[in-house]
Amino acid sequence: MKTRVWVVDNIVDKQRSYPQIREAAEWLRAGEVVAFPTETVYGLGADAANTEAVEKIFAAKGRPSDNPLIVHVATMAQAESVVAAIPPLARTLMERFWPGPLTLVLPKRKGAVSERVTAGLPTVAVRMPAHPLALALIEESGLALAAPSANRSGRPSPTTAAHVLADLNGRIAGVMDGGPTGIGVESTVLDCSQTVPTILRPGGVTKEALMKVIGHVAEAAGQEHEPGAPKAPGMKYTHYAPKAPLWIVAGSPAFLQQLVEESRAEGKAVGVLTTEEHRGQYAADIVISCGTRRALETVARQLYDALRRFDDANVDLIYSEAFPEEGIGVALMNRLRKAAGGRVIHEQHE
Ligand code: AMP
Ligand code: MG
Repeated sequence: MKTRVWVVDNIVDKQRSYPQIREAAEWLRAGEVVAFPTETVYGLGADAANTEAVEKIFAAKGRPSDNPLIVHVATMAQAESVVAAIPPLARTLMERFWPGPLTLVLPKRKGAVSERVTAGLPTVAVRMPAHPLALALIEESGLALAAPSANRSGRPSPTTAAHVLADLNGRIAGVMDGGPTGIGVESTVLDCSQTVPTILRPGGVTKEALMKVIGHVAEAAGQEHEPGAPKAPGMKYTHYAPKAPLWIVAGSPAFLQQLVEESRAEGKAVGVLTTEEHRGQYAADIVISCGTRRALETVARQLYDALRRFDDANVDLIYSEAFPEEGIGVALMNRLRKAAGGRVIHEQHE
């Protein structure tokens, strides 16, 4: 299959229907899969009600079939059409955070989406993305779109159309190139099907921001390491792994550099993941600086691209700095830990 690339850098006029968007929407209605940008990462979309189309997502990604997909909508009416009911608290969250990087898990409406989307669960995950292209494509297609990240399963999520093509060229019908995404890590998944709203996956909307609006929120146990966390089947799979083993180093740059030197003495090619503040303190085979610690959003935005660049550099080993777990830093460290398979080296303090 030849993968079509539609370049739509910017939607200048919201009223106008762009020919590229019309064509991509037609293909979606015909049961094809199309990748498109959202404000978090690129998604791989298919008609959520069409089982054959949804199966193409799993096939293209090589994704385990018990990992449910998020349904993307452009209007409240579409959201209402896939869920059984919207409790008042969920409605408040939608009003405050939609369109935006917040996914809500709600009881599903029977028969509204394919069983393959929900992996047999009684709930469905829904989100309205805050990206003009994503919204235009969903609206033009008239479909609720099941859309996981547009990467091969286990690879870092794509934040550019080039990342999508690196993983899926020839495996999907098309990709809409809207330039790099803004947030760079996936949406927050919040389970609203239980009494207390529970964060199943930290993401673009911080816990602090949720608390401000709804007062209290719980966090799912075993979010990080435990295999088979029951509420969100997707959590048990390793994600975002670069090819070389990645180690998170909780310590000073001097300590990290010492580790680099020890590994290089063993003949290994070593990569370092750092930020603007410390980049000058490392000598390694490749040093990638990803944003600034003064604004962890900048690190989140570039993280997946950095992980892919280490793959291209063919290093044997990567050491990454650790980041403060506050605000977006929670999502950032969650993804970094997954990429590291939980490996953290702690510096001994006197
Ligand atoms: P991805 O599609 O790669 O962004 O991952 C989607 C995430 O949403 C995974 O962690 C899924 O487990 C989670 N998810 C999707 N649907 C549900 C659901 N009905 N209940 C709980 N988690 C869900
Ligand atoms: Mg994903």
